[in-house]
Amino acid sequence: MSENKDFLRTIVEEDLHAGKYSEVVTRFPPEPNGFPHIGHAKSIAINFGIAQDYNGRCNLRMDDTNPTTEDTRYVEALKDAVEWLGFHWDGDVRYTSDYFPKLYEYAKELIKMGKAYVDSLTEEEIREYRGTVTQPGRRSVYADRSVEENLNLLERMKEGEFKDGEHVLRAKIDMGAANMKMRDPLLYRIRHAHHYRTGDAWHIYPMYDYGHCLSDYIEGVTHSICTLEFENNRDIYDWVLDTLGLKPPRPYQYEFARLGINYTVMSKRKLLELVNEKYVSGWDDPRMPTIAGLRRRGYTPESILNFCHQIGIAKANSMVDVAQLEFCIRDDLNTKVPRVMCVLDPLKVTIENYEGSEELDASYYPEDVPKEGSRKLPFSREIYIERDDFSENPPAGFYRLTPEQSVRLKHAYIISCKEVIKDGFGNITEIIATYHPTSKSGSDTSGIKVKSAIQWVEAATAKTVEVRLYDRLYTCEAPEGVEDLNPDSLKIIKNALVEPALITEKPDVRFQFERHGYFYSDPVDYTDEAPVFNKIVGLKDSWNKKAKEGDVVAKPERKAAEKKVQIDGEVAPMNEVEQARFDKYTNQLKLNGEVSNTLARVEKLSLFFEAALAVHNSPIAIANIVANEVARELKEKEVSELKFTPEQIAELVKMIDEEIISNKIAKQVFEEMVQSGENPAVIVETQGLVQISDSSVILPIIDDVMAKNPDNVEKYKAGNTKLFGFFVGQVLKATGGKANPQMVNDLVAQKLQ
Ligand code: ATP
Ligand code: MG
Repeated sequence: MSENKDFLRTIVEEDLHAGKYSEVVTRFPPEPNGFPHIGHAKSIAINFGIAQDYNGRCNLRMDDTNPTTEDTRYVEALKDAVEWLGFHWDGDVRYTSDYFPKLYEYAKELIKMGKAYVDSLTEEEIREYRGTVTQPGRRSVYADRSVEENLNLLERMKEGEFKDGEHVLRAKIDMGAANMKMRDPLLYRIRHAHHYRTGDAWHIYPMYDYGHCLSDYIEGVTHSICTLEFENNRDIYDWVLDTLGLKPPRPYQYEFARLGINYTVMSKRKLLELVNEKYVSGWDDPRMPTIAGLRRRGYTPESILNFCHQIGIAKANSMVDVAQLEFCIRDDLNTKVPRVMCVLDPLKVTIENYEGSEELDASYYPEDVPKEGSRKLPFSREIYIERDDFSENPPAGFYRLTPEQSVRLKHAYIISCKEVIKDGFGNITEIIATYHPTSKSGSDTSGIKVKSAIQWVEAATAKTVEVRLYDRLYTCEAPEGVEDLNPDSLKIIKNALVEPALITEKPDVRFQFERHGYFYSDPVDYTDEAPVFNKIVGLKDSWNKKAKEGDVVAKPERKAAEKKVQIDGEVAPMNEVEQARFDKYTNQLKLNGEVSNTLARVEKLSLFFEAALAVHNSPIAIANIVANEVARELKEKEVSELKFTPEQIAELVKMIDEEIISNKIAKQVFEEMVQSGENPAVIVETQGLVQISDSSVILPIIDDVMAKNPDNVEKYKAGNTKLFGFFVGQVLKATGGKANPQMVNDLVAQKLQ
């Protein structure tokens, strides 16, 4: 906790150190008049986070002093939000309304001390008497009422004898105070309204400035953290507590900057308008910045807390880019969720020369995600690809299927287009293709070079699903109101197709749909019969590009540009040098298209790759690590800034090739090399990472896994062979990824026979 402390934690630490309090007590005090939004998440993260960090307590208090706008529905939403973010409030939920009797007693105290009076000026007069920033105010003639008269009037106000606005209770402070808030602030006002908790018991309700400080005191709060707009209210906060001469310790107020996010509205009033006027489907509409909305969209609590952590706690207001929030969810899901295939706009492809059917093994996770698991992809002659992934007259830089250009079906074969079938209107209705039998993913000996791999689904087994494509709710950075709403913030696709495993195996509820983005099974509308997926976020920030292109671009063009970036993800054609490298990598070195493409286009990567290759001739393995891990490091750095060298990468790959370490451990070693620049052999040695290829070590682990999962063993033996991957995964996990995967595979197969 002591590193990079924010100013609030610094204060808390000093107070604890000085013995000012024996324990830190904070509170999150929302008004239950709407669903909490991402701004509240920041406040929740701060208040509960500080209590957690210093072994203190944090209360959840409904600041329910306004009878006309509050509702138990909002109370429930607030509780849900705090719990979903992973926090626990101390004791029961608290309510300012529970303190009404106590607050009333304190008010009588103030009157008796001559520090409060009932004023009978009209609202307008009160405003007029208050003066201006440059002119002092005047005190009301009613300020001289006797204690008895004030007590009597207050009692009758409470009992409902007067109309709204007829009288108010005010503190007697200073009508000439420089801080205008201190010019005899209102403490109570009359409201003839039904309160959702206290019913009709009260006809007066405390003002924020009076109720808040005392509620904090009553609860034993030590640090009352609020947003900057309350800075000027701090004097009243202190005045009330000090004037009453309460038994110490008392709380103090501290202010931090409110969270504002571009392309977003954050006031509950504006959000309520969106709900009431039906611009959205409700408070939990996945486009809403409410916690309920973000949650239904598919955001994880971790991503939101990480966002709150990243933006930090400052004392000056600023606007945060919504791209940062989107980055946080992408970053979180990238290392967690299975990759699956979904076709949003299906175009039928018949593979003429393919007979029968087969099941292709496909990992759910890419190499760089440390998770295990795979599924079978059914494959036969009729499949669907994305309509956009075929072009009859391709623009420059189009890398997917064309009449002249072959493409790889992800996890499957390379196909070439043979014939384009159209309807009477010239619309393409089907592609007749041929496949290349020797090009199967993982054992490709075809020598055919392709520039990309596309998603597809088998026609016979694909499942129809509804996909809801969400985009930002507003089109402009600083939206004012409904006139700025993005008309394309929701697009519903009723007949998208997904591979079957997604529905039958349900490896997760969140997925990456290859090349489309991250998606979430809608928690409300999803059923196995009619699955619904919400788009959480695209794979990259498509708005950034758009903004950089300049906001003057006409709207339709902007849309087109955005669409291109999202769906294409492609860049300009290669120059001659790049093309020559690409050809060499694919033809001679047999690297796959994607890797070759990456290495060929970035000079520093290709130089790095070739330098490593000169030391250890293992092109595929070296290329993979350079195109992924090394490329990641070189995104923001130059080769001279790296701590590791091509020679060391060659050495690392050599250890993989010699089965000293597994691929997975190699990644771990690489991370260490990035940090320390240490030789891989030394890292492996000192951290005991040598691969376990000793069956006498692995077999007992397999026995253990089987003993712990008797149900799965039963199921496997009863024919559910998909569970094979489960057992292998468990064993690898138990060895911290150190077991030789091939050996584990073989031994598990033996054991399960
Ligand atoms: P809004 O203006 O959006 O209706 P509010 O401030 O009226 O919000 P409250 O329910 O009174 O909402 O807020 C509860 C707590 O959350 C307060 O401590 C408030 O300071 C904090 N909070 C509200 N909005 C933000 C925000 N955008 N950033 C940080 N904290 C916030
Ligand atoms: Mg408020």
